[in-house]
Amino acid sequence: MNHISHVPAYTTPLRLVAPKPLHVVETPARENPEPLETLVEVESVSKVFGDWNRGGVTAIDDISIRIPEPSITLIKGPSGSGKTTLLGIIGCMMRPTRGRVTVSGHDVTRLSEDLLAEMRQTHFGFVFQNRHVIHRATALENVMVPGLPCRHHNGDLRGRARDLLAKLGLGAKTHHRVEHLSGGEQQRVVLARALINDPQVILADEPTAHLDSDCARSFMDLIVDFVSRGKSVIVTSHDPAVCRSTLFTQTLELRGGRLA
Ligand code: ADP
Ligand code: MG
Repeated sequence: MNHISHVPAYTTPLRLVAPKPLHVVETPARENPEPLETLVEVESVSKVFGDWNRGGVTAIDDISIRIPEPSITLIKGPSGSGKTTLLGIIGCMMRPTRGRVTVSGHDVTRLSEDLLAEMRQTHFGFVFQNRHVIHRATALENVMVPGLPCRHHNGDLRGRARDLLAKLGLGAKTHHRVEHLSGGEQQRVVLARALINDPQVILADEPTAHLDSDCARSFMDLIVDFVSRGKSVIVTSHDPAVCRSTLFTQTLELRGGRLA
């Protein structure tokens, strides 16, 4: 059953925002730029893991950022600087200890668990290191999983999953069990899975960590294609090859949980 049917009648229904034409993906200044809409607004957000009075860890501290749409945002910083935590909070996977996060105009820090789950499903595609592939299932089945809860309105799920795998060079591996694929191939399955619901934004946490340079380039090509359809991407990375790229609309740097 589609869990959207559990949403209480008195709440504002969430809607997928219609794709908009691409205004900017490159760093150079635009002539007569139109203002971009705000997709995500992070206001004075902090996250403390554990009890602050008993040695809790402040993973991010008083962060305020704005993510326009469409855009490609890079969040860089050394290991432990809070990149994954910030991405998890933006993606409605965890709540901040303090501050406010707004996604497409919805204050997600005030949403119920059901609505947070709906927000995750309708707005975000996740390419996370800890979002493991499902073993004993095929590449195709792995890609189809996020589409299953809303299969009555997403058309030919199997066909789209097959197309995505083919675009990522995995056409011949469609029916292979995913644990028999290499690390880079599994990473591409995760990317196809992130794209299956045609989300508004992809959150990619160190996406090129297990990819060789050719695969990393294919990954970035897919990201550019995604953004050219009016979508947005937020990538964390400390891979110099990614950080050097001129594709990013904006680059944010974290140091010790704060914006550098
Ligand atoms: P990065 O992704 O930049 O490596 P993280 O966001 O993973 O950084 O971690 C930031 C800080 O928060 C680190 O000190 C880490 O140990 C701590 N941290 C992250 N997740 C947890 C957790 N679930 N429980 C306790 N501490 C955590
Ligand atoms: Mg991390």
